[in-house]
Amino acid sequence: MTALAGELKRQIAADGPMGIDRFMVLSLTHPRHGYYMGRDPFGRGGDFITAPEVSQMFGELIGVWCAAAWQIMDMPAAFNLVELGPGRGTLMADLVRAAGVMPGLVDALSIHLVEVSPALRAMQDKTLANAGIKAHWHERFADVPAGPLVVVANEFFDALPIRQFVRTGASFRERVVGLDEAGELAFGLGSDEMPGAAMPEWARQAAEGEIIEFSPAREAVAEEIGARVAGEKGAALIIDYGHTASGAGDTLQAVRKHRPVAVLKHAGEADLTSHVDFAALARALERGGAKVHGPLTQGEFLMGMGLREREEALKRRADQRQRIILSRAAQRLAAGVGMGQLFKVIAATDPGMPEPHPFQRDPQ
Ligand code: SAH
Repeated sequence: MTALAGELKRQIAADGPMGIDRFMVLSLTHPRHGYYMGRDPFGRGGDFITAPEVSQMFGELIGVWCAAAWQIMDMPAAFNLVELGPGRGTLMADLVRAAGVMPGLVDALSIHLVEVSPALRAMQDKTLANAGIKAHWHERFADVPAGPLVVVANEFFDALPIRQFVRTGASFRERVVGLDEAGELAFGLGSDEMPGAAMPEWARQAAEGEIIEFSPAREAVAEEIGARVAGEKGAALIIDYGHTASGAGDTLQAVRKHRPVAVLKHAGEADLTSHVDFAALARALERGGAKVHGPLTQGEFLMGMGLREREEALKRRADQRQRIILSRAAQRLAAGVGMGQLFKVIAATDPGMPEPHPFQRDPQ
């Protein structure tokens, strides 16, 4: 039994079964036993690998996107570059190096990182200090100071909590985590029904026993981002794995040492995520007032940003071994069998701004 499982059992015994949302929040960010709070989960020796850790090309191309966004914002003399859930700080370091090529940009930007984990904050601090970059840290996006902004989030939304509801007859009942007869953590059905407002048309089409997911937490952050970029001139780029259209299905998953594991068995010691519903995210960004662009697949986005050209440029300065590594990395980031298809990219801007590259609709 993990340390967190003991804590969860005590809470459930005292207060009754908890929703999947609370289970996710405690699993990932419980101050003492939360998965992210005291460890570095990334890389070969960790539990999973994210795109910025696959190759510098990922962060560099996002840096080019941010520089272009700043340009179509009419190059404000001061703006906030915000990253949500910056992991090891690798993406931000690569991003700033590439975006800094644009004259005037480095003097205009002030970096704000939204991070809950003390362990990862320390790591981000180290990565950025090594690159000569200064940053400010915040617990929540709402704490980032006002002003023009460019927001980047890679694999952040998948870590925010979801609620799950199961179709039972005419109603949807909340899926919860409770205790079985042996006192072990077990899934069950709670008494709460899905709030009417959360029932978009698609949910009604779920079959008996099917699970539908929605995430008030993700939508709240997306709506706030939408309001900021629309109200103060700005742009946001959100990258995550998930689906383009809303639909039924259980996507809650735990990963440890690069393998899927049982969700309830490793509470606090495995990464816990679910697929991002990009249609719901787009609606929330629009509710905030922003114009939404995409989603594109990660492959389409990276190719549109010049992944091939970047790969070739790096290869010209590389030896044979490094060239092979670069080819594999580009493949992994952009190909359908890698992250290229499952991962999606969506952008949001002030509605008065031109369509950012590479989201322009095909003019046919
Ligand atoms: N973007 C990074 C890391 C992705 S992992 C990369 O691509 O490598 C998720 C990140 O979000 C971690 O840094 C984690 O600590 C942070 N995080 C998770 N839940 C959070 C929350 N509720 N608020 C702020 N940061 C959170």
